[in-house]
Amino acid sequence: MKFYMPTVVYDEPECVKAHAFELASLGKKALIVTGKNSASRCGALSDVTKALWDNDTPYCIFSEVEENPSVETVLRAAAFGKANNADFVVGIGGGSPMDAAKAAAFLMKQDSPEAEMLYDSNFPSSHLPVAEVPTTCGTGSEVTGVSVLTRHQKRMKKSIPHRIFPALALIDGKYLYSAPHSMIVNTAVDALAHLVESYLVKASNDYSRAAVMEGLHVWSRSKEVLAGERKPEAEDCSNLMRASALAGIAISQTGTSLPHALSYILTYEMKMPHGMACGYFLPGFIAEADKKDRKAIAKAACFARPKEMYSFIRDVLSLDEIVVPDEILELAYRTVLADRKRLEGCLFDADETVLGRIAGRSTADGTHNNQL
Ligand code: NAP
Ligand code: FE
Repeated sequence: MKFYMPTVVYDEPECVKAHAFELASLGKKALIVTGKNSASRCGALSDVTKALWDNDTPYCIFSEVEENPSVETVLRAAAFGKANNADFVVGIGGGSPMDAAKAAAFLMKQDSPEAEMLYDSNFPSSHLPVAEVPTTCGTGSEVTGVSVLTRHQKRMKKSIPHRIFPALALIDGKYLYSAPHSMIVNTAVDALAHLVESYLVKASNDYSRAAVMEGLHVWSRSKEVLAGERKPEAEDCSNLMRASALAGIAISQTGTSLPHALSYILTYEMKMPHGMACGYFLPGFIAEADKKDRKAIAKAACFARPKEMYSFIRDVLSLDEIVVPDEILELAYRTVLADRKRLEGCLFDADETVLGRIAGRSTADGTHNNQL
């Protein structure tokens, strides 16, 4: 059994301030990578700049990362960082800026960065040190080595093969206080998908499952918030961020499975938010698992039975109001069907028929498994 998680994690209120010296010690000059607005609105950017300033560490800021960051954006961030002689990278935001920060840290290590290096698995994966400050509660990118980028040339999103684990993750629930309900729901469902998918792949082991079980438990404490039955309190924000990090720890060992693989086409073609796109396939995916696994997952997330869990996911995402055109479902199905490794990695037997049901292709009786 193997467990490898080299990121130092601080998960506590005001952790950026408390660990400012450790952050600044990653190098001599920081490239800060953010999205357009939220890093500054939620207060994380000023916390990070103050932490660096207080430790006499200069920085430059690249604040142009879009949702589902493209290879082109990452190249621009790396060029900007290199031109400013930055020697470490701080990503602030959701998965998009955090993933872009990792890819930029990889490119900045190269003499002449080029797009092809990102997807070339033969290319050495060395990179500048990275710190991550999450402001959503979904991707767990602060503790994974994964960077998912959009390749417009291939009309697709895909993880790069290089593993770029952050040196430092600074997790503070307060950055969620300003977040809209829809963003919290979408990203919390992404974390749930990570937990469930990690549990249902052959690569899972006792270590990854420990993270999954605790993650589901912590996640379940804020179900009423996700269902819109009460407003989030500080503790909910911490719990949702912690569940997301535990889910990240789990997938950093096992990878994700079919809902993620199927989701990328919906995000690319329909601009569907990442968590919602994964959640679209999640009930159908769980329903295909062994009875004992379905029950264990539902129980850990404090649902009386798996069916309650499926309805919960469908309701919080309002999936009944979403129509995914058949041709997009077919494209998602065809893409994943060609990915033998994904299918074989699944804990249950995911043959063509099973994948077809999860992908929501029409069956003879007109039902879709994801309409459970
Ligand atoms: P995101 O794409 O980073 O951000 C979504 C939106 O939320 C953006 O408009 C962003 O605004 C806003 N936002 C972020 N934090 C906010 C806050 N605290 N308050 C208000 N608004 C806020 O969303 P994400 O779901 O976290 O990341 C999705 C990406 O991560 C996808 O590309 C996905 O493929 C990837 N992913 C990576 C991993 C991994 O292991 N690395 C795992 C799963 C998914 P701004 O644009 O202004 O920042
Ligand atoms: Fe995800």
